[in-house]
Amino acid sequence: MSAAQTPAAAITTHGLTEFYARLAEYYGPQCWWPNLDDNNPRFEILVGAVLTQHTAWANVERAIGTLLGAGPLTAETLLAHEDLAELIRRAGPHRVKAERLKGLCRWFINAGGFGGIEAMSTAKLCSDLRAIRGIGPETADVIALYAADRPRFIADAYAFRIFERLGWWQGNTRRYETLREQVEAAAPEHWRAAEYDEIHALVVRHAIALCHKRHPDCANCPLAERCAQIGVTDT
Ligand code: SF4
Repeated sequence: MSAAQTPAAAITTHGLTEFYARLAEYYGPQCWWPNLDDNNPRFEILVGAVLTQHTAWANVERAIGTLLGAGPLTAETLLAHEDLAELIRRAGPHRVKAERLKGLCRWFINAGGFGGIEAMSTAKLCSDLRAIRGIGPETADVIALYAADRPRFIADAYAFRIFERLGWWQGNTRRYETLREQVEAAAPEHWRAAEYDEIHALVVRHAIALCHKRHPDCANCPLAERCAQIGVTDT
């Protein structure tokens, strides 16, 4: 095990392919996105992507359950709820998130719904989403990937934690766009949204199950043979 900092290794196609394969074999299919509403599952992803910001998923599900109890999960219905903030109270800073959701709903309607979104390039879609107050690059990419089937790597805090330990990212600053672009540049040519869906779900699963922030369980990790364990001192 090495606790010393060493230069970051390049993310390679081979390394990324093996990373994916080992996690997929260990954890099995993840089948994201977890939906509660079969009537409008794609729109639920937009709602969930905002509600999950800095909030545990269990609380997001409770908030979506409350929303579903108050009416159909559509942009028009959410905008009509005068008590939207109260309905999503379980999902963290509810007043802020209610404003974000309303901004997202107004954008969605103006964009022409999913028909309009499907006609946009990925760059325009992500750029438009980021222009909405409170929608950052990670939330925009989650929506682009899971609601619009665009191949985007989600460079979230879990990905940075694991990649730093593998030796694939180094530096005091975690730059979202840089890691996303590096992974997408190294990704196998055949990767489509389905593979990016799955790798994000596997990264989250691995960070929660074994590659904990403190005391990672390296002894049982399917990546251990390939992991430099950079910065790990407390397995
Ligand atoms: S659990 Fe340990 S071996 Fe596995 S990826 Fe994390 S730091 Fe590396």
